[in-house]
Parts: sequence; C-alpha cells; structure tokens
Amino acid sequence: MLKDKFNRIHDYLRISLTDKCNLRCSYCNPNDLAKGFFANSSRMTANEIDQIVSVFVKNGVKKIRLTGGEPLIRKDAKEIILRLSKYPVELAITTNGVFVNEFIETFKEAGLKSVNVSLDSLLKEKYFSITQRDKFDRVTDNIKLLVANDFHVKVNVVVMKDINDSEIPEFIQWTKDVPVHIRFIEFMPFTGNKWSSEKVFSHKQILNIISSKYHYIKLLNEKNDTSKKYFVPNHKGSFAIISTMSEPFCNGCNRMRLTSDGKMYNCLFAKAGTDLLTSLRLGNNIEPLIKECVQGKSFMLGGNNETKNWGNQTTVTHERSMISIGG
Ligand code: SAM
Repeated sequence: MLKDKFNRIHDYLRISLTDKCNLRCSYCNPNDLAKGFFANSSRMTANEIDQIVSVFVKNGVKKIRLTGGEPLIRKDAKEIILRLSKYPVELAITTNGVFVNEFIETFKEAGLKSVNVSLDSLLKEKYFSITQRDKFDRVTDNIKLLVANDFHVKVNVVVMKDINDSEIPEFIQWTKDVPVHIRFIEFMPFTGNKWSSEKVFSHKQILNIISSKYHYIKLLNEKNDTSKKYFVPNHKGSFAIISTMSEPFCNGCNRMRLTSDGKMYNCLFAKAGTDLLTSLRLGNNIEPLIKECVQGKSFMLGGNNETKNWGNQTTVTHERSMISIGG
C-alpha cells in the first residue's frame, strides 16, 4: 500500500500517454506555447507502461486514468487500453473526444465504464475560437455515441471569465434530457497559458449563476472526491465543480501521476518528478522510487501554498505545462 507521511493512501494513478494533442486550447496547449516534445525514445512504450503499472497495482493502485496530451492520438492506444484492462483496476480515460468513434469497441472490450470528454462551449464558433480546430460536430456526435452506448459520460468544462461563463445555464439545461455529467473546472495556471486571477470563475460564482435559474441539491461527497457534486431534480444528468483555485481539495488526495516520459509526480503542482523509466530501463526495481516519491508529497498543492500566495500570478510557476504532465 502506498501511504504518504500524512497517512493518505494513494491508490489512483493518472497516466499521460503522450504530451502531444491535436487541439490547441488556449488554456492548455496554445499555439504560441514553446513546446519541447519528448523524443520518441524517451517515451514509455506500451510494454514499459504495462511493466510500470504492474508495480503500482502490486502496491495497491485501484484506479487508473489515461490522459495526456490527447491519449487517443497514440498509434498504440488500443493496445495500451487492452493491456491495462487485464489489471483488477477501474480503468478510465479523459479525452477531447475527437477520436472516440474509432475507439468505442475497444472501450467496450476493455470494460471501460466512464469516459471524460472535454467540451468548453456548446457554440460551434466559440469551440473553434478556444481550440483552434473545427471539431465541434465530431465531439458532440461522439458524446451522443458514448451516451447511446451506456457509458457514464462526464463533460469537462474549464470556465473562464468572459469567455464561456455565460454558457453555464445552457450546460445545465443539457443535463435535463441527456444523462451527461458536467464538471465545471476552475481555470488553473500553467506555463504559457496566460492565466490571471481575474479570469478565474470560482465555485461560488458558478453556483450563483446556476441558482438564479435552477433549484439544485448538493450530493454527498465520497472520500477522495475532487469535485463537489450537485443535481437539479428531474434532470437525467448532474453537475459538479472542481474548485482547485478557490477551495483546494488536498485533504483526501489519493492521486499520483505518470508522464509519458516515465516521470512520476506526486501532485499536479509538484515542482519535479521521479524518473521511473530510466531506472526501469537500467533493470532496477522501481518500487522503492515509487514509495519515496509518495513519501515526499507535500500536504497541499505540491507545496505551493507554503508561500501563502497560492494563485498569485507571479508566484505560480510550473516546471511543465498541463499538457506535458497530463491533466
Ligand atoms: N486531451 C484530453 C482532454 O482534452 O480532455 C486530456 C488531457 S487535458 C490536459 C485534461 C483536462 O485538463 C481537460 O479536461 C482540460 O480541460 C483540463 N485542463 C487543461 N488545462 C487546464 C487549465 N489551465 N485549467 C483547468 N483545467 C485544465
């Protein structure tokens, strides 16, 4: 079992399959972001992912989420999904949805139950202005395809002030007849994404907008939940808010991250990672490194809060962008 020094059990691993993405979302992978992609040789192969995962599972990991970059652009994504499906874990994926139609049978074969799809606008033109790609119809069709095939579909929406905050009610309206679960995410700062505190639309502001139009009920949080969950009575779907900026939820954190070049991060905001891949390639046992990395975890926000100015534009810096560490 992987426990940190605050006695938090770590049983959830998020694996970034690639640091590349086919979209250019302004808040994550903007066109002008200086990208030093990992060389193919430094990227974990399907076999290495399998070997590393086996060590995590042996140490109590119960849930694995594949992310990126865009996980489904990897040529061997099907092989990886199927190989990981043999482990006794809950396997999930976060995707921009563009290639879901090519993977739906693989998802079923792998026993995947839940798929998170990112969609920041319900307006085609705005979707284009955020992502710089004309994929709105494909993504919305693929969300319909997932719902029709009984997947639990969560839709990730990064809420940015004056960009898409006005669409919050439309997202809630969507949950009336369609069982989609909207997750409003507070805009977080990462290298090159032009974050400023004024662009953050907080948990409280999101709820204020919703309450002006809908009567909603709060659901009880489960242990390790990163989001606060709500539902509107008689709606088929639900909504949740991920309040990393205004109300961080580090208390019950059970997450670890593995980048596509095989570095383990004990927090999304950790300043450095532990190189598992080099050690594996040298034929070493990576288990002690994993345990050490978990033990070294700060209580909150990768230690950034220790400066007491979390969220201050000048102090929140990150060694890697969101796209390279894996969202
Ligand atoms: N390509 C996949 C996708 O689009 O979902 C997976 C990777 S993406 C980095 C994972 C999630 O991180 C997405 O839901 C995205 O909206 C979120 N994300 C990226 N940058 C963010 C930021 N600056 N603030 C909040 N959420 C962010």
